[in-house]
Amino acid sequence: MKGITLLALSIFSTAFLSFAPVSKKYIVIDASHGGNDQGVIYGDFKEKDITLSIAKEIQKLNGSQGEYEVILTRDTDIFPTLSERTAQINKLNPEMVISLHVNSSPQKETTNQGTEIFTQNSEVSRKLAEKISKKFDAQKIEERNLHMLRETKAPAVLVELGFMNNSVDRKYITSENGQKEIAQKFVEIINEH
Ligand SMILES: [Zn+2]
Repeated sequence: MKGITLLALSIFSTAFLSFAPVSKKYIVIDASHGGNDQGVIYGDFKEKDITLSIAKEIQKLNGSQGEYEVILTRDTDIFPTLSERTAQINKLNPEMVISLHVNSSPQKETTNQGTEIFTQNSEVSRKLAEKISKKFDAQKIEERNLHMLRETKAPAVLVELGFMNNSVDRKYITSENGQKEIAQKFVEIINEH
């Protein structure tokens, strides 16, 4: 089944919402970057592909049977602007928003490793970050004034999944197993919500 994206929802929202069970709650997974915006690049690896692949895996693993419906900001290689993303998210009014990114540092190779989580200036955002941190053993939780966090009204976090220029992280986040494991952890977080 093809997943539902925010764009599809905005086009068909009237029809869609009238058929959606009242109890359905939405979780938005933001596959960052896309299209001409590649994000971080290392050889053939691109941040935009990694975030898309993991986002789609989260939607697939979560399925549509549970209490939460996972909606993606994109499910192809396109670039919705940050303003388009947050405008659509605010229309949908989801329970939470998780924006997926890949980190990098100025050096060619780095010993920096692991997950970093950025939060809004709110208790709910920090609590969500704590849950994610427990699963991923995060190196850092920090409040950040970023468009995605500032303009999103729902509880939101931005997760840097690992460093592209760290060989251990790179191997993990670009491998099929690593991506499946990451997606599975997010599905658990969503359903423990
Ligand atoms: Zn990014």
